[in-house]
Amino acid sequence: MTAKLFYDDPYAREFDAEILSQSEHDGKYHIILDRTLFYPSGGGQPCDLGTLGGVEVLDVHEAGGEIIHVTASPLDPGHVHGVLDWGRRFELMQQHLGEHLFAGCLWNIHHIHTARMRIEGGNVSIDTDIPADVSAILEAESAANEAVWADIPVEVVYPDMAEIREHARKLPPDNAVPPVRIVKVEGVDYVPCCGLHVSSTGQAGPVKVISCENHKGGSRIYLRCGRAAYRWIASVHHEVRKAEAELVCGYEGINEKIAALKSQIHALKSQNEATTLRFLKPLADSLVKDAEISGTHKIVRHVMNDSSQDEAKHLFRLITADKDAIAVIACVNTEGVFVILGTDRGSKGVDVRPAFRKAIEILGGKGGGQPFSAQGWGKNPQAVNEAVNAAVNELKAGMSE
Ligand SMILES: [Zn+2]
Repeated sequence: MTAKLFYDDPYAREFDAEILSQSEHDGKYHIILDRTLFYPSGGGQPCDLGTLGGVEVLDVHEAGGEIIHVTASPLDPGHVHGVLDWGRRFELMQQHLGEHLFAGCLWNIHHIHTARMRIEGGNVSIDTDIPADVSAILEAESAANEAVWADIPVEVVYPDMAEIREHARKLPPDNAVPPVRIVKVEGVDYVPCCGLHVSSTGQAGPVKVISCENHKGGSRIYLRCGRAAYRWIASVHHEVRKAEAELVCGYEGINEKIAALKSQIHALKSQNEATTLRFLKPLADSLVKDAEISGTHKIVRHVMNDSSQDEAKHLFRLITADKDAIAVIACVNTEGVFVILGTDRGSKGVDVRPAFRKAIEILGGKGGGQPFSAQGWGKNPQAVNEAVNAAVNELKAGMSE
């Protein structure tokens, strides 16, 4: 059994040990030591990283009661010196204690229980058993930060089961063998935990909730604590400063400015649409007038150059306002060829999809639709006239059947 030095002194960064065994597994090396400072992943806390004898440690986990250190290359047998990635470990201890403070406050104030916690990718996430609303979350966040500023010592104690049952925010698993390790923050939290924590609450802050979502009948709350919270706040501040400069306002005015810009965009879009329709109306009228008659239908074909998809759709709408018209419109621009083909939505008895498939196959593109209308993009502008003509021929053949 490897001696767990990390419990003796969570602030120790370097250690010496003897290699008890070393074995190769799929090109990696599994190393077991007589003692270690490397915390193996467990209890929601990721493992420590660092070096053993100057060789990078890739993973540390517990298997079969042993702590396995995984490296990419073998170590010299015998004695080894280990060095932790201290920045990573310290942040994990900050995040872990911050989680205890937040979960403890959520329990103390609102009796919302944390069913699971995980530290991952710089975030802490906790899952609650019942939904936590925003005001409860913000209250717990505020109380957790008050606990930070009170700078309360973090104690590790091994009480008897009766005391644990009386005080613990959550009970140890049924198969837990005493003594059970309790992490205690006087007046804030008392919980069984095998993880590592900073030694006083003052080192864990700030505690900042980032977001929250519904999860399995409860809430999943994401938070960051300590240096990870500071990094997040700094990056948000950086983005806000850029938005302030772009919008020429202070941060309090950003939302108002965005709302004004959105309504301006909306007005410009409507104006643009009206102008485009007015501009395209004479073209649509003359195309319908000169349409090819096929049975009771007027087939209108047209290719627009250097035009947008929106313009093609507007022309399509204007043409198919005539209930007897079937439009085959293509537009060519730098993005490729857009094709739209169809009739007024209410027209019965015509399925334009076989004609559309003909055209889009020639254009080497993709798309689809319904019997009355289909559209898509092709990649072959040189074939645009061939594609339009093939679609019209297919429509005519379909009508003569
Ligand atoms: Zn814990």
